[in-house]
Amino acid sequence: MRVLIAGGGLVGLTLARLLSRRGIAPVVLERMKPGGYVKRGFMLGHQGYGTLEDLGLLEEVLRRGRPFGAIPGGGSAAVAVEVGLLLQRLAEGIEVLHEHAVSDLLRDPDGRVTGVLAQSPDGASQIPADLVVACDGLRSRVREMAGLKAQFAPMEEGKIEWMSHVPVAEPFAMAYLSDGSHIGMLSWPEGSFGWRTMDRSGRDAAVEPGIEAFAEQWSKLLPAAADGVRALTSTDQLLYTEPELLTCPEWWTPGVVVIGDAAHFFGPETGASAGIGLSDALALAQAIAANPDNPDAACATYVTWRQPAVRPLEAGDPSRRRLRGTPLPPPHPDERWPPPRPKVTR
Ligand SMILES: Cc1cc2nc3c(=O)[nH]c(=O)nc-3n(C[C@H](O)[C@H](O)[C@H](O)COP(=O)(O)OP(=O)(O)OC[C@H]3O[C@@H](n4cnc5c(N)ncnc54)[C@H](O)[C@@H]3O)c2cc1C
Repeated sequence: MRVLIAGGGLVGLTLARLLSRRGIAPVVLERMKPGGYVKRGFMLGHQGYGTLEDLGLLEEVLRRGRPFGAIPGGGSAAVAVEVGLLLQRLAEGIEVLHEHAVSDLLRDPDGRVTGVLAQSPDGASQIPADLVVACDGLRSRVREMAGLKAQFAPMEEGKIEWMSHVPVAEPFAMAYLSDGSHIGMLSWPEGSFGWRTMDRSGRDAAVEPGIEAFAEQWSKLLPAAADGVRALTSTDQLLYTEPELLTCPEWWTPGVVVIGDAAHFFGPETGASAGIGLSDALALAQAIAANPDNPDAACATYVTWRQPAVRPLEAGDPSRRRLRGTPLPPPHPDERWPPPRPKVTR
């Protein structure tokens, strides 16, 4: 089967490695230059451990990151690790066509997808494939071009994140605030990262109180993160976003299947998106290996295996209780970000 992987991020690279181990050499197209990735604080949930084990990388990732959350019978619930290290190890031995962006899908007269049109600095090229795997992330163009429906659900809250070069003692800490919102932090050997839900105020209002006020409030609410957050020097180091959850009722159509963030995205409390994406890749690689001459059977097998694993997680995502339009209790003034402005009295 000619497999084309659209997107050489975490999940696309993982799938390429898994397929190569099964004797299938996929074509991987990535729009970014080699070595490009979004730097971020990152934890890999245990859902991805089986995939790393299949690739022979689990022991190294656990050793070079910081596992946390002991589970019964041994092991850990997740590992905080420098995401660049993980991407680098996954990419080893995989040939990726960088600076190749999928811009259209090729179809036969019956509408079946038979490949892609890719744009690169050398111009446009048509690349035939029996199965196009959309690993192109949350805003997947391939999913859209294939006509697979995406249901985005914005949250009522905003989210603010920071990343610091200073690691802290604990690998992970999280606390719920009095209105049910939350604040959390991660630390791997090279740095630390924090995130919290906050008023959906927009970036300007989120950074307006300044970095010192931000670090002070954060340190009070989550003391384990204090050394990391106090090392920040500018509000340019703060990232404000308005999270959305994603679910897709269908994951495949003849010639195309969506996996990873292109297929589902979970809320900030779960820390599970990457681990689930990695286990999608393992299930798809096994389904392709079991149906090497029949892409539709591979996709149907994949869906049969993944529905029972992914759908309950989507339904049980705690962020679904805080979607846009849900009336939420008022936050405690000391926990609110940005802090309420003092009332002006004449
Ligand atoms: C700030 C931040 C923090 C996060 N923290 C965590 C965490 O702690 N734990 C966790 O589990 N998850 C976390 N995530 C989510 C996690 O990073 C994703 O779940 C994971 O990266 C999914 O991988 P993916 O390969 O499906 O998508 P992506 O990583 O988005 O990769 C998609 C790739 O496709 C490429 N691409 C896009 N369009 C095209 C195109 N048309 N043609 C060719 N290539 C294309 C992109 O350049 C990219 O390389 C975080 C995400 C962010 C942004």
